[in-house]
Amino acid sequence: MEFKLTVTCDCGKRDELILKRTTNIYEGKVYEDFSSITDGKFKEDLFITQQNSPDEVVIECTSCGKEHNLTT
Ligand SMILES: [Zn+2]
Repeated sequence: MEFKLTVTCDCGKRDELILKRTTNIYEGKVYEDFSSITDGKFKEDLFITQQNSPDEVVIECTSCGKEHNLTT
């Protein structure tokens, strides 16, 4: 599965984050298969992500400075 996060700020900036997928397979068995917001990369670097607690990620618009919290 592939996960994409589209973020549109109130100021009109819009960017897409492809969540980084990590899969660990050992001897044919899948032990981990997850996608991470914080390890992902925005296509145009219009936003930055910060993990400020284990279940909370802050997305900040580099254009106007507005922040939005996401919970996992
Ligand atoms: Zn903005």
